[in-house]
Amino acid sequence: MDLFFTEQQAQTLTHPAMGTVMTHQSYGENSEDCLTTIRMEIERLEAMLSRFRPHSDISRINQNAGCNAVTINDETMQILLAAQQTANTWTQAFDITITPLVNLWRTAAASQTPPARKAIQEAMQLVDHQDLRLHPACNQAGLRKTGQCLDLGGIAKGYAANRLRDCWCAFNIHSAFSNLGGNVIAHGCKPDGSPWRIGIQHPRMEQHLLGAVTIENEAVVTSGDYQRYFIGKDGQRYHHIIDPQTGRPSRSDLISVTVITPDAMLADTLSTLLFISGMYKGVEILKNYPECEAILVDQNLKTYISKGLCDRFTPTSCTQSTVLNPHGVFSI
Ligand code: AMP
Ligand code: MG
Repeated sequence: MDLFFTEQQAQTLTHPAMGTVMTHQSYGENSEDCLTTIRMEIERLEAMLSRFRPHSDISRINQNAGCNAVTINDETMQILLAAQQTANTWTQAFDITITPLVNLWRTAAASQTPPARKAIQEAMQLVDHQDLRLHPACNQAGLRKTGQCLDLGGIAKGYAANRLRDCWCAFNIHSAFSNLGGNVIAHGCKPDGSPWRIGIQHPRMEQHLLGAVTIENEAVVTSGDYQRYFIGKDGQRYHHIIDPQTGRPSRSDLISVTVITPDAMLADTLSTLLFISGMYKGVEILKNYPECEAILVDQNLKTYISKGLCDRFTPTSCTQSTVLNPHGVFSI
């Protein structure tokens, strides 16, 4: 088995999609055909889920906000239900109706100037996940108020990563790896039988890693304040993850959150949620997801890892890491 795998050459494919660059690596006989299918699958999902594609399910919901519900694909419904469940369970953090605020802060990034307080307050009036009405029995979804708008930026790449797993299985691929612009998913292990080793970006040293984690059949998703941001005249860092309670880029005590678990959509949702929630609440939330491991970095660049990563995370020399104990109290 090992010999068979070591003789395999990797086939790779890099392409732009979902506002980022994706790279897929696959080993085994059907890799070329599998990569072609993966490319088409990502395009199909983007056409269905992107709010920047005028005919997508999400755009049609947004265009009809305040008017009527529209019929959407079953898959879109599953994603919206998952997002809605997270928002209902852990209120005032992860909210896919956040778009008016995201748009405001995107414009701010272009001029490197934070929006006016009044504009933030107005946009906040439109953010409320309870205004997203889902009717799974007839696959219909709608937004209550005109001007409301959905954005799946915090969850869609995770869903897409899960779908890649179906592609690999369909083509009988046993060893593959994809990087969907920072959302990583690994299928099986490396061709030589060893686990994949994933580098985690240091949140403040661009060319450095925080460390590396070993994975098999898992996703690794990071949310951080260093991924998309601008520094204002006041010296503050304004990034792309918005706290619906303040209408501003979240300012918890965390600057980077990585979640590791087989379900990439859960990893994507949780990394954004924990980032906004901060260390204390984040650890409380994590206790409800025993299948998830996490790497949390605080403002002082102290790195905390969940217990299950003890033997799987190797910090680099510039990283001071600590294990999160199961009660959420940190031991150094
Ligand atoms: P991620 O990089 O997965 O943490 O997701 C960040 C992206 O999710 C942003 O670029 C926005 O598109 C969207 N987003 C920002 N703030 C939130 C929020 N509070 N809840 C859900 N999605 C958000
Ligand atoms: Mg996310």
